[in-house]
Amino acid sequence: MEITSNFIKTIMEEDLKSGKVDTIVTRFPPEPNAYLHIGHARAIITNFELAKHFGGKTNLRFDDTNPVKEDSSFVEAIKKDIEWLGYKPANILFGSDYFEASYELAIKLINKGLAYVCDLTADEMREYRGTLTSPGKESPYRYRSIEENLRMFEEMKNGKYKDGEKTLRAKIDMSSPNINMRDPVIYRIIHIEHHNTGNKWCIYPMYDFAHPLQDAFEGVTHSLCSLEYDDHRILYDWFVEKCETEHVPHQYEFGRLNITNTIMSKRYLKQLVDEKLVKGYDDPRMPTLAGLRRRGYTKESIVNFILSTGLSRVNSTVSSEMLENSLRDDLNNKVKRINAVIDPIKVVITNYPEDKIEWLEVEYNNDNPDLGSRKIAFGRNLYIEREDFLEEKPNKKWKRLSLGIEVRLMYAYFIKCNEVIYNEDGTIKELLCTYDERTKSGSGFDERKPNGNIHFVEASTALPAKINLFEPLLLDSDSKKELFSRMNPNSWATFSGFVEPSLKNTYSLERFQFIRKGYFATDYDSTENNLIFNRIVELKSSYN
Ligand code: ATP
Ligand code: MG
Repeated sequence: MEITSNFIKTIMEEDLKSGKVDTIVTRFPPEPNAYLHIGHARAIITNFELAKHFGGKTNLRFDDTNPVKEDSSFVEAIKKDIEWLGYKPANILFGSDYFEASYELAIKLINKGLAYVCDLTADEMREYRGTLTSPGKESPYRYRSIEENLRMFEEMKNGKYKDGEKTLRAKIDMSSPNINMRDPVIYRIIHIEHHNTGNKWCIYPMYDFAHPLQDAFEGVTHSLCSLEYDDHRILYDWFVEKCETEHVPHQYEFGRLNITNTIMSKRYLKQLVDEKLVKGYDDPRMPTLAGLRRRGYTKESIVNFILSTGLSRVNSTVSSEMLENSLRDDLNNKVKRINAVIDPIKVVITNYPEDKIEWLEVEYNNDNPDLGSRKIAFGRNLYIEREDFLEEKPNKKWKRLSLGIEVRLMYAYFIKCNEVIYNEDGTIKELLCTYDERTKSGSGFDERKPNGNIHFVEASTALPAKINLFEPLLLDSDSKKELFSRMNPNSWATFSGFVEPSLKNTYSLERFQFIRKGYFATDYDSTENNLIFNRIVELKSSYN
């Protein structure tokens, strides 16, 4: 799939045509303070696909200007996710690479009388800032001399002051209708070790100052970000203009992607991990790219999903079914269709010989002969899905097995259930059935119709497997409630089932359709003697 027309693509076309730019340079600027989620995929794919379309390039730049929350394990995870999606950054850069350069430009602003050292505390600053309807008040430190500002800024850098004791602020306009322009802080003091620069710096530039400068240093032509930065653009342009950078980048905003039933905020994802409400960032229930990957989502299904949601200047919410459908579309003709019984009950074919096993040749996917075929076993002892048998007398709508009723076992024979054997606790031990030899699949038998088709595996040859089925993590979308009280207790269910023997040598993230049960992937932790499969999605949307 190619990136479709959208307003940013149009802007780029025009800029190239008018000669405003001669190549397209974009960047993806994640903050390395958590793993990436599916919402970030929109930003990644938009930046890389647009640049690729125009023969330009895309940098990966870690926005690591806040050492409090950042960590190199997140840097590695983010790199891996981007590579997995199939993109190769032209350069991998760090905001912290530019600490020296942005420090110089802060001095330039001071020298131009456009920045000052301020002693107001965070609380005072909030008070002075004013509101949307009332103008702000000038800081009493606003008119310090250039010399004093230079000296104090250097002292800030040299560690003379404690965290929060002083800030460097841009001198813009305390009565601007745009609050971002009311003398924003551009440097703050944080005495903490930085994952890249260690203890070299104790002053760190704020995002609004650092970001446009980084874009300028890298020659970024179109700096794409989500809509919440809309009213920061004027500040972005102010810094670029006043710092007189050689290259002049421009910011463009696009709408954020939200998905129904899906948490799309790093803060929540972090909380789920930190409070151990999930097994980690790559828990298959997580909407992180690492979680979706482990669950079995293909990169194609994610890229196609994102591209099909388009891009506009409004935030949009799309149904989680769209993502699921994208996976189904991708895998339907691509993967083997396998017999697996997730929640088994035993079936004994009483009129079938004790030690006979028949091997029936069956194509892996009748929509894709290239996948070849394998032999599936039929014998006296079988497993079928518990939900394919109804204990009470069924009505006409029931199209599966029940006492006195005959069904076809797919690829094999008609069987009829004659008796149910119970355990002492009243649960079903096994179903005694008989088969009709004449009804073998492919024999053309047409004397009577079976009451439905169900799948099965042969007990002595099937392989035991742990099979994980998932539901949404959260039951309640009310974000005001405590996270733990909103968790779905059934979001992860593990079954001890059986799969056909052809899965003996499956490998991590091999994907299958389990006939009638959905699309599955082999878990990272699966081994030959401990097979583990995760359900990616059901075959059909559960909403229908
Ligand atoms: P979150 O708001 O989910 O906690 P963030 O925006 O703080 O994430 P960043 O690391 O700053 O995370 O994001 C990097 C880029 O990804 C930014 O340009 C941001 O606009 C973009 N982005 C994040 N979430 C989405 C989303 N849901 N849809 C589109 N773009 C997004
Ligand atoms: Mg952000």
